[in-house]
Amino acid sequence: MSTTFLIVGAGQAGAQAIDTLRREGFDGRLILVGEERELPYQRPPLSKKFLHGELAAERLPFRHRPFYDEHRVELRLGSKAVRLDRAAHTVELGGGERLTYDRALLCLGARARPLPCAGANLAGVHTLRTIDDANALRAQLRAGASAVIIGGGYIGLEAAAACRHFGLEATVLEMADRVMARVVSPEVSAFFAEAHRAHGVRLSCNTRVVSIEGSDRVAAVVCGDGTRLAADLVIAGVGAVPITDLAASAGLAVDDGIVVDEYCRTSDPSIFAAGDCVNHPSPHYGRRIRLESVDNAFEQAKTAALNMLGRNVIHDRIPWFWSDQYEHKLLIVGLRGDRDERVLRGDPRRGGFSTLYLRDGELTAVEAVDDTKDYMAARKLIAGRARLDPTKAADKGRDLKDAVI
Ligand SMILES: Cc1cc2nc3c(=O)[nH]c(=O)nc-3n(C[C@H](O)[C@H](O)[C@H](O)COP(=O)(O)OP(=O)(O)OC[C@H]3O[C@@H](n4cnc5c(N)ncnc54)[C@H](O)[C@@H]3O)c2cc1C
Repeated sequence: MSTTFLIVGAGQAGAQAIDTLRREGFDGRLILVGEERELPYQRPPLSKKFLHGELAAERLPFRHRPFYDEHRVELRLGSKAVRLDRAAHTVELGGGERLTYDRALLCLGARARPLPCAGANLAGVHTLRTIDDANALRAQLRAGASAVIIGGGYIGLEAAAACRHFGLEATVLEMADRVMARVVSPEVSAFFAEAHRAHGVRLSCNTRVVSIEGSDRVAAVVCGDGTRLAADLVIAGVGAVPITDLAASAGLAVDDGIVVDEYCRTSDPSIFAAGDCVNHPSPHYGRRIRLESVDNAFEQAKTAALNMLGRNVIHDRIPWFWSDQYEHKLLIVGLRGDRDERVLRGDPRRGGFSTLYLRDGELTAVEAVDDTKDYMAARKLIAGRARLDPTKAADKGRDLKDAVI
């Protein structure tokens, strides 16, 4: 009898795993289960070009239907996996179908974190994770309307840029003392805060939302200091939560994500996991991490697929991420540590600058703003565990690699 590989979750990681398995010669039965109705599609444009109306919906899927037919992929779209029975090696779908697997791969992603306040379920309050979310939001982006964006992270800020693109009044409320505080340096935060203000966004940090008011639909957002902001729509960008319930209820180890080893294997050797839903070790950084990025989902799915084929490949990547806001591109590579030395390279007022992070001299991470060259150089230097002279590294007049000691 042929071997069956079952992939649960038809997003970035699920699509990549299909690709790798067939490319690497897996000839058995291949089933892809996805809760959304769509073929696997790219999410980054949902807060960027797609939201701006500059990318058509047909351009979002990674592959179109003929690819899945040609590669003999059995699709179960619009079907949620509701139970994983490890002893029986079966996954049960919402409609009652029970699928048997030899090896399974969980690529369940993450869901938008719900707003923890009264009024979060009113009509006109949006989150942004799926194409349905993006379509619902786009339909509300009308010039003159006022949007309140809760959360000054990537998604909130990219959504604010889309609001301004369509001529809405946009206010961003951020609980921390600066935007993107969790992921970038104060200099990078200040640069993007200024870019948003220059494009007409009102930005208020140190501001906690306590409730959303409205009768049948949102009318206002109320802040901790009593301020009440009228709103035609609200966009909540307050983070994402890994989807782990299927794994947890089957008794797999879960700890801020499905726990896997460096081979992307869960605590059950016949079940693998990849992407946003995964908590994995980073051999390079010597710690466990959970990442929400295209590169991570793509590379981890590749490694998981190879290991489902018995190849024994270790996942050890230097993570990277990007965000587009107006004409600016932020590129982040590596993982900074709390105690890393911070070095500013270049002048934010002149554009094209970076924040570098050094741990005992070793380059651990770089945040590059409008500076692809430094970003590309940093990728190699971080992977090679290069040590830099901080004074030379701060000098934008020199190539970054010339700062290596
Ligand atoms: C608006 C937006 C903008 C982004 N921008 C960027 C960016 O600029 N750069 C970047 O690197 N990353 C970006 N990301 C993050 C990136 O898209 C994710 O990291 C990536 O999609 C993760 O892939 P994944 O396969 O792990 O999860 P997903 O792509 O989320 O796929 C998971 C799929 O599993 C399905 N699923 C969950 N549970 C079940 C179940 N029980 N049964 C069946 N199916 C199930 C879900 O419905 C979903 O379709 C962005 C994300 C969003 C939402």
